[in-house]
Amino acid sequence: MASKEVRDLFVNYLKEHAHRITNERFLILDAAMDADGHFDADELYFKMKNDYLKVSRATVYKTLELMSECGLLTKHNFKGDRTRFETKYGRNVHYHIICMSCNKILEFEAPNVEELQDKVCKENNLKSIDHTLQVFATCNEKDKCENYKEHVAENGGN
Ligand SMILES: [Zn+2]
Ligand SMILES: [Zn+2]
Repeated sequence: MASKEVRDLFVNYLKEHAHRITNERFLILDAAMDADGHFDADELYFKMKNDYLKVSRATVYKTLELMSECGLLTKHNFKGDRTRFETKYGRNVHYHIICMSCNKILEFEAPNVEELQDKVCKENNLKSIDHTLQVFATCNEKDKCENYKEHVAENGGN
């Protein structure tokens, strides 16, 4: 269940941007705020269907987009994977390491990353709006990794 603050924030956003405020959107808001980890729109849609909640798939997709726009969710595009969402509201800034074989996602915090980018932005007279850091990896222990495949490092950077 979404807290009152979260509901208010969402309602204000919908009003400001002239989006309809519907009961269906509140059901999706609650389900998304209760969801664990990094979920995609279909996972949430099917979970809600299993819970006998009447929502359309298109509205789930649209509502998750709106929740990202108003800062309640973070939207991730992990290499080749479907778009995933996670709760942003009330969470610390964190980053992700993704196993390219089993899609296991590890989260970590790194305040020094934020410090560094603030410094570089400042030095170049830029204001940071958003940032992301994703590390793609493979599990070291083959037997603990579902779908283990050898991955060769790509030539990253210049
Ligand atoms: Zn995360
Ligand atoms: Zn793995």
